[in-house]
Amino acid sequence: MRDDCECTNSDHAFYARIDAALDRHQEAHWWIHKLDEHYHQADLFRWHLNAFLKAIKEVPLLVAGALQNERGFSAWFRDVRAELQDDPLMSALSKKRDFIVHRGMLVPNSSGFVGITELRGMKFGMRFPVYPLEDSADAMDRYLLAIAEAGDFLGILQDDEDSLPCVERTWQLEEIDGDLVDICARAWQRTGEAINLVSQRFDARELPLGLECRHASDKMRFKLFDRANLRLRQSDLVARKLHRARPSEAAPP
Ligand SMILES: [Zn+2]
Repeated sequence: MRDDCECTNSDHAFYARIDAALDRHQEAHWWIHKLDEHYHQADLFRWHLNAFLKAIKEVPLLVAGALQNERGFSAWFRDVRAELQDDPLMSALSKKRDFIVHRGMLVPNSSGFVGITELRGMKFGMRFPVYPLEDSADAMDRYLLAIAEAGDFLGILQDDEDSLPCVERTWQLEEIDGDLVDICARAWQRTGEAINLVSQRFDARELPLGLECRHASDKMRFKLFDRANLRLRQSDLVARKLHRARPSEAAPP
């Protein structure tokens, strides 16, 4: 128990009863941070999304199980759960749950661009595709190879103190507008609101549901690159490509 905790003993007694549900809700909170952290790593993003969706779906089940012997609770909570499930956002996530994590299912509305940012948004962007299932750094590698041949017409590698090269990408679902991690954060809050209804019913303190601990999603969408490192990376990629293209010296003529 933290020293600054303002909960009463009866709050804690109630929380102890739904401890498994609260723990799963906290776990889902952790996965949201991991989604933010791995936003530019396609596989890690999908795997953490899977973990989030699994955890968030289990929270109401754990509440229902913990309090099923309370008189009148199950019937009342069935309505709370139905309302939660009918919420368009929760229902879309829940339907996606079984197949969202398979490769390819996030493809339709996930996109990315390579360009230059002044840190307040994309300055020049180019519709250079970032494939939904590739890491943003791999997309930048492809771009570096492409401009080694075609020329750096965006000037991405030219010195400029006020801007940085970047990949901007977004993860989205077809059914719901907005960034996918923001959607997960809203789902977490709505599930928390359902827990808070239960807390109210048992006269316990409600959970805080602010997610101020998250990074702003508009910043997260940008992966920034250092120009000097990109130039070195480009030389390395070009050298490796030439090496691969050259016939093996050991091979017979
Ligand atoms: Zn947090």
